[in-house]
Amino acid sequence: MRYAETGFNLEIDLSTGNVERVETDPRLTELHLGGLGVSAKALWDRVPPEVEPFSPDNLLIFSAGLLVGTPAPGANRTIVSTVSPQTLFMAYSMMGGFWAPELKHAGYDNVIIRGKSPKLVYLWIHDDKVEIRDAAHLSGKGAGETSELIRAELRDPKVQVAAIGLAGENRVCFASIEQGKSSASRLGIGGVMGAKGLKAVAVRGTKDINIARPAEFIEYCNGVLQYIGVRDQRPVPGVMPILAGLGSPQEMKLIDEEWHTTNFMWGNSRTRRKDFWSKEIEERWRGTQESSRRRLISCHNCPMKCSAIISVPGVATYMMKCFSKLTYTMAAYSDLDFGFRIAQRATEYGVDAFSAPQVMAYGLELLEAGILTAQDFAGMPSDNEGKFYWLLDRIVRREGIGDVLADGTYWAGKRFGKAAEELAHNNIKKHEQLPLKLGMLNPVYFLMYATGEKSNITQIEGQFPQAPFLTRAEREDFVKDWIHVPDEKFKQYLLDWEPRGEHSNPYYPTVQMSCEIVDWQEKMHYIDDALGMCAGLSSFPLKPPYHIHNYPAIISAASGLDLDEASLTHITRRNRTLVRAFNNRRGLTRADEAPPQDHWKKRFPELEAKLLDEYYKFKGWNNQGIPTKETLHELGLGYVADELAARGILTASPAAPGAAKD
Ligand code: SF4
Repeated sequence: MRYAETGFNLEIDLSTGNVERVETDPRLTELHLGGLGVSAKALWDRVPPEVEPFSPDNLLIFSAGLLVGTPAPGANRTIVSTVSPQTLFMAYSMMGGFWAPELKHAGYDNVIIRGKSPKLVYLWIHDDKVEIRDAAHLSGKGAGETSELIRAELRDPKVQVAAIGLAGENRVCFASIEQGKSSASRLGIGGVMGAKGLKAVAVRGTKDINIARPAEFIEYCNGVLQYIGVRDQRPVPGVMPILAGLGSPQEMKLIDEEWHTTNFMWGNSRTRRKDFWSKEIEERWRGTQESSRRRLISCHNCPMKCSAIISVPGVATYMMKCFSKLTYTMAAYSDLDFGFRIAQRATEYGVDAFSAPQVMAYGLELLEAGILTAQDFAGMPSDNEGKFYWLLDRIVRREGIGDVLADGTYWAGKRFGKAAEELAHNNIKKHEQLPLKLGMLNPVYFLMYATGEKSNITQIEGQFPQAPFLTRAEREDFVKDWIHVPDEKFKQYLLDWEPRGEHSNPYYPTVQMSCEIVDWQEKMHYIDDALGMCAGLSSFPLKPPYHIHNYPAIISAASGLDLDEASLTHITRRNRTLVRAFNNRRGLTRADEAPPQDHWKKRFPELEAKLLDEYYKFKGWNNQGIPTKETLHELGLGYVADELAARGILTASPAAPGAAKD
């Protein structure tokens, strides 16, 4: 019997219409757990680096992690993996909501889709019955509208639907996949779905999931729920309110926007609006939010309610979560009310709320700079908000200037020439990063930005505070119940971290400490992403219910795998290294790991080089950020080492002085 997982994948070839239910090898679970781990393995095995993102040979994998569908609170993530049309590396975007648990109950851990349908279709997965259905009538429909139409067609309101909007159909490189209460937004996975001619995947499942040791597991789950309740009463003092509790940043519940509005860029600017926030704006935005928010909502099996139903006069009701509340507002130098209104249209179109507003602001700056002309924007309204609606419509239809902007700022910059490339100043690995504009470099964040492949700051930060507490007393208070640290030394790192002086950024935390902190944070993300656990209850917030000390027992009780901290860490290193190797095989090197120049005003080139050198060594990678042969063999990835060597990727390059021997 298989526990926690179903033991079956769906393999679907949209070119031939072939659908297969395939039993999976239990050894894969032992090696990679599930979710991101097994997806990375499938991509490594089946998508060679020559495959283009929109090629029928690219895979699109919908994966429910190992704990999804079990009673573990927060285990509801769908991990969607493919090759990104933006970065040309692996994309793995995650969505919460209800889709992945439904897939597990239908009897599958993963849906692996290849090929390209000659006409627009949707998948209907209903337990053992799987159909590829005509979707001609859904062409051009919004993502939410598509879900409603499919539910009506199937006459079952409980069907969970993951769908693309017009942006995905038109292969916009930052198109998202939307489903009810969440979306998988980053790196253009919706565009890959559109290139396959796949409008939606609808799922309904009625089967049970086996648990290896049910009584023990339920006890752990109850413990997690109790802790969530306790933590709810104890926000972390000295931390901004939206980050002081659990879950995603609590932007739907609270108005706490001073930090974002004064430390992130507005539009495509290079400067901050340091004096933007005021009592008057706080009150006005509170009024806007409270009048627009119908109610707070949660994902499957979670009490946290991080999302909200938003309803604005004249606009259909929709769901919003997290920082997307501000992205359109700030891109257009506008007001929160505008942000709530345009986000509805953008959600129906299915675009990434981080990238899309930045791309539109970038387009307008190209016009202001004279790189593009009024002719390129013929028909655009003159008012600021009208410009953004107009641009959004052009981009998702790939009409006129929108066709170039639909590729994102990096590729549009390449197309328009050097001056335009310089204005695309907020990219890393060819995609739009969160638009930080901070003063002093933080070494931990530098490493996370530079080397992370999850492509989202909120998904690469973690259980170590983002900034030092102001006083020693606050630090001492924080570490008192900090049971989450993998080692007691992390408490001392925090106790000694000062806002100013010798023990402050950028030289403290030291290089070695920064490597250890980033490695811990990244480890937690890779565990979550293999389990399908929401980062909001584990790798993202301070003092979460899931951590490295209780995870092995929880996973073991659910799955029957015999795990302790060391073996869980080993599996996690294997998954992380496989993602890195997949991207190395597609050309990722040290040169790609450069955060935007203006993310921090004060930069330290020698320190940054040293941070990268030491972090690579810490991870067992060579000086180009490529896992060494020894590391790969230690992790049971000898086949990866052989291929990287055969392709000449693991040969020490003369252009990389100090490269570790592989
Ligand atoms: S913590 Fe928030 S985002 Fe995460 S599963 Fe719960 S409701 Fe969803």
